[in-house]
Amino acid sequence: MVLSAALARALFGEANDSAKVEASPDFAARVLQLVRALEAAGIKVRIGPFVRTPAEQQTAIDKGRSGTERSKHLTARAIDLYPVDPTTGQPDYAGKRLDLYRRMVDIAKGQGWKSFAFKTDGSPRYLTNKQGGRFWDGGHLELGQ
Ligand SMILES: [Zn+2]
Repeated sequence: MVLSAALARALFGEANDSAKVEASPDFAARVLQLVRALEAAGIKVRIGPFVRTPAEQQTAIDKGRSGTERSKHLTARAIDLYPVDPTTGQPDYAGKRLDLYRRMVDIAKGQGWKSFAFKTDGSPRYLTNKQGGRFWDGGHLELGQ
């Protein structure tokens, strides 16, 4: 599947240029498949920028939002999805609606995505950043390879 530039913009927003998207059309197709399944389940999502340059990854580390230099965002194998809270109409970046995140992650896992959002007991799984602090990466989903 070759992703058109228009579809890429619809999926990923203006921030992602077509060259980046063309580098991973299979990934984009997997994202599209997931977003459609979520919408079918009544979950709308805001899609974050999915490809990071090494400099952008370093910025994420410096801001405490990532704990690794080997992020799958560097190879276009990860994406951040934020459920839209139906009561506010706004994406839930803060993880207030864990129920929506749990349903999103369950559906994503069913399609082969990996998540670090929850422990096996269903409680949020916090990650450690380079500053030694803890953060929750509930919207992060990634594929292997
Ligand atoms: Zn991420």
